[in-house]
Amino acid sequence: MSEEKNKILDDAAGYIKFYIEHNNYAIYKKDIIPSEAGTGLYDEDDVEKKVAQEEKIIVSEKLKVELIHEENELSIPALDTPASEDWMSCSDLVSFANEIKDCPKCTLLARTRKQVVFGTGNPNADVVVVGEAPGADEDEQGKPFIGRAGKLLTDILKAINFTRDEIFICNILKCRPPENRNPLPDEIANCEPYLFKQLEIIKPKLILAVGSFAAQTLLNTKEPLGKLRGKFHAYKGIKMMVTYHPAALLRNPNWKRPTWEDVQLFRKEYDLLKTK
Ligand code: SF4
Repeated sequence: MSEEKNKILDDAAGYIKFYIEHNNYAIYKKDIIPSEAGTGLYDEDDVEKKVAQEEKIIVSEKLKVELIHEENELSIPALDTPASEDWMSCSDLVSFANEIKDCPKCTLLARTRKQVVFGTGNPNADVVVVGEAPGADEDEQGKPFIGRAGKLLTDILKAINFTRDEIFICNILKCRPPENRNPLPDEIANCEPYLFKQLEIIKPKLILAVGSFAAQTLLNTKEPLGKLRGKFHAYKGIKMMVTYHPAALLRNPNWKRPTWEDVQLFRKEYDLLKTK
């Protein structure tokens, strides 16, 4: 056996000794520094064996952590689990809103927004309306659906016997994108967990998503709104109807009729759920 292969075997024995002496502490590839003699020319078989051995150690360590979890119910974080954040443990909307009021996750939005627009309404609502993102008025006042489009939404809700106080209204994105541009995928990825958390706390019976952006994002589809509306979908196990955004209705009154049909269906489903 060549001196080089001997060196590789010595290194491997050293890693195993370290692994045992440190109570099976996981050895990551980044922690393994080949010895000087070992930095020469390996043949491919040797390298593959060495990598397989390292991976076996890491896998066995992962299994060990999972077993400890199951057997002892200890809160040992599994490897690769993202760090938990304070807002995740909130059990009410007030403390949750307070936790994320200075959210810095989207660097640009955190710099350009006036405030985080968390959402408003009944914390125990049966109905949650979800829009896209705050605009200038919302950013200014810290409330969703303000201004002309907001007034139209209020009127639509009133027409199907809902007041804004009895439901909860929010957006997918909690901060205003500059120039009211569409939210970017990274921004949605950052902010959507906040919507999940809101729904987890509120536990609504129904969701009304308004606008193609909200509908397509929540349903993870590129289908046009015209094909998504008029029927119920599910979002996180909650029944969801999608319809036109009130701002779109202001631009195109032809969409008022299908919106009216959608919200009537929505109200019917709500009444049905209430009787169950
Ligand atoms: S959009 Fe959401 S995730 Fe991004 S900074 Fe605002 S609150 Fe944070």
